[in-house]
Amino acid sequence: MKCLSLLLAAMALFGQQTVVRAARLFDGRSATLQSPGLVVVEGNKIVGVGPSAVLAPNAKVIDLGDATLLPGFMDAHVHLGMQFGLDRRQEVLDEQARTPAEIALRHAKYARATLDAGFTTVRNLGDWNGVDIALRNVINAGEIPGPRILASGPGLGSLGGHCDMTNGARPGFRGREPDWRDGVVDSAESGRQAVRHNIKYGADLIKICATGGVLSLNNDVDSPQLTQAELDAIVDEAHAKGKKVTAHAHGAAGAKRAVRAGIDSIEHGSFLDDEALTLMKQKGTFYVPTLHALWALDQVEKKGGVMDPRTRVKMQAAARRLDETFRSAVARGVRIAFGTDAGVGPHGTNAEEFVLLVQKGLSPIEALKAATSVDAELFGVADTLGTLESGKLADIVAVPGDPVADITKTRTVIFVMKDGRVHKN
Ligand SMILES: [Zn+2]
Repeated sequence: MKCLSLLLAAMALFGQQTVVRAARLFDGRSATLQSPGLVVVEGNKIVGVGPSAVLAPNAKVIDLGDATLLPGFMDAHVHLGMQFGLDRRQEVLDEQARTPAEIALRHAKYARATLDAGFTTVRNLGDWNGVDIALRNVINAGEIPGPRILASGPGLGSLGGHCDMTNGARPGFRGREPDWRDGVVDSAESGRQAVRHNIKYGADLIKICATGGVLSLNNDVDSPQLTQAELDAIVDEAHAKGKKVTAHAHGAAGAKRAVRAGIDSIEHGSFLDDEALTLMKQKGTFYVPTLHALWALDQVEKKGGVMDPRTRVKMQAAARRLDETFRSAVARGVRIAFGTDAGVGPHGTNAEEFVLLVQKGLSPIEALKAATSVDAELFGVADTLGTLESGKLADIVAVPGDPVADITKTRTVIFVMKDGRVHKN
């Protein structure tokens, strides 16, 4: 009887606990793995990490054996509202024919594929239909499975630029020229208006197009597309409202304007020069190289995909320079964050970025940090996510074996817990 009452008293001290155990653990920050790996979860929070953690007597144990526990992966750059396949030209037409409701229903499966792959938090960068906000809200309400989404709403850019969804179309294609309500900015003041408009309708962060892009049709890939005054106003307005700003930027001139304006991260960065990388290092600007995007376009080419010839030329130019730029960024100690541009490549293959980062010169530990503690800092969520530590939200994934010895293990995520709930085991 005495034993039983002691046990009941002990149980009353704890809520229902789940203990996740495996041979190894990467905490998101350290230079080495812990062994064995053990995380104690209560509700949606981590309450203990490591073999010395105190367990409730009735804790439920999930033993994953010869595997490695890691913080839920993060991806700084996805497009859940689109998925390119082999015929990009046909897909553009299909996308234009679909209503936002149809796009959202079609693409809910990509949110699921992303979570299945171990990515529990993503930034969705640029969406003109409100699909990103809708998916975020429905996932947060627990109605459909998917990653935690930080949504940008429409990307902000210049008329006819990479963020103008009517670029390459005939005049009057959407009835009127797009303006700040659609993310098209033509002055510092309309930049501020566009930021306020996006935030009004639910944006968690602001995405801008500082230069041309590979897949847009009527602009070159590297010229600047917003003025210094426009960028200064956009970043100032967003930061005043506590929102991060990230720039799609291939060319050095546009990227430097964005970095001078105080942008939080540069996406792609194919043609960044020494001056741009030095400036980024000085200002602590994160670099998200999205190696996955060019890898995916190359796969499409190899499979005989249909691509606009203008796109092919830009893709080849960007691919020629990106490796060199990336190596130079790593050598200078620019902070590398993890993002894929998934949507250009297949959703659910996000982990391929780990493999590419390591192939091109990052250590496996640095690649794993990029998708955990570094992304958490870039996203502004480091107080709740990005590491396996007491008090953080219980986003935990596991891969078989040791991903530091073999980074390709990240392709096969065997366990996913998001917010304390097991999604995949
Ligand atoms: Zn993108």
